[in-house]
Amino acid sequence: MKITGVETHVCHARMRNWVFVKVLTDQDGLFGWGEATLEWHTRAVVGAVQDCAELIVGEDPTRVEHLWQMMYRQHFWHGHGIVRATAIAGIDLALWDILGKVCGVPCSKLWGGPVRDHVRTYCHLGGGRMEDFYETAAEDAKRFADLARAAVESGFTAFKSMAVPPTLPLEGLKPIRTAEKCVAAMREAVGESIDIMVDAHARPSPAMGLQFAKALEPYGLYFFEEPCWPESVDGLAMINKAVSTPIATGERVTNLAAFKDLFNARACEVCQVDITHCGGLSEARRIAALAEAHRVALAPHNPQGPVSTAASLEFGFSQPSYIICETVHADVPWRSDVVQEGFTVEPKGRLVRPNTRPGLGIVINEAEVRKHPFEQELPQRVFYTDGSVGDW
Ligand SMILES: [Mg+2]
Repeated sequence: MKITGVETHVCHARMRNWVFVKVLTDQDGLFGWGEATLEWHTRAVVGAVQDCAELIVGEDPTRVEHLWQMMYRQHFWHGHGIVRATAIAGIDLALWDILGKVCGVPCSKLWGGPVRDHVRTYCHLGGGRMEDFYETAAEDAKRFADLARAAVESGFTAFKSMAVPPTLPLEGLKPIRTAEKCVAAMREAVGESIDIMVDAHARPSPAMGLQFAKALEPYGLYFFEEPCWPESVDGLAMINKAVSTPIATGERVTNLAAFKDLFNARACEVCQVDITHCGGLSEARRIAALAEAHRVALAPHNPQGPVSTAASLEFGFSQPSYIICETVHADVPWRSDVVQEGFTVEPKGRLVRPNTRPGLGIVINEAEVRKHPFEQELPQRVFYTDGSVGDW
């Protein structure tokens, strides 16, 4: 059995271009789907997938780890920069999809699963609609409460919000009180049986992140995400030590060694590895083993497209410390036209029952994908009140 080609199929989905990766083989009807979506870097990733394909065309697609090692190491530059790590992930997911199809089992079964009956999911406020999640100002606490109520009404028992405004490296009480009012309004709206998450999007400095974390501590957040830059491992560790709220991070961390530094510093309690940015399921499984040694929970980052979701769920059915999966369902109204999924979602509670189809269990409708060709993603640029550059 041989790989005969690697294709990319770009599908413009408003905030992101979904980059689907299709690995073709010389076996009749056998191919695999992966995803290498990297917003604002679509052209670079498509090129990186082509570069990686040079290494693996002609090889046996079922030697997944061997091919991963080739892609990661054989171009001299190790493949953990965000563009290469995403491209490798796209191909790696497709290779696991092929292996599952060859063996006739869902991917989670290849890894000893399923380890649970269902995977819990959470949504973004607004279900992934860009304007609701990213563009509702933290000053508008009432809107946050309304969107929180809507998330619960649509069946979710957990949701994530961006209640922390962009701040200079040091500011006074105003942004802290703004975030606090916002979270108080959401808690008031949904009660204590619903889990609320706040993503600070690495906007604060460690000093501001600590203040936000302390102010939000009484509201019992399920986790507080990226309270400062992911590069500030010591800053994350300082905040994680100072509050009882579990700190989450990892969506921008792209390799095992970087996760080792994060866990060794006890910089988080929740590992948000992104399966499409960390080199794929092959590397994510190693990161999960490392997290297990530190008793750190897994909650993968997954605001991307449907192949990313299928892979994140297969991963969840194979990992004991997996607590919840991020999902978006209202980013574009035609999401379900592009993909058929092998898993089922219970409307009440938004619990996912296992995929029963081989591999990742997904079918991509290429004709539908072609209806949404590449468009430049809309910029999301932040400037502070003094005109200096801020973090989105
Ligand atoms: Mg995040």
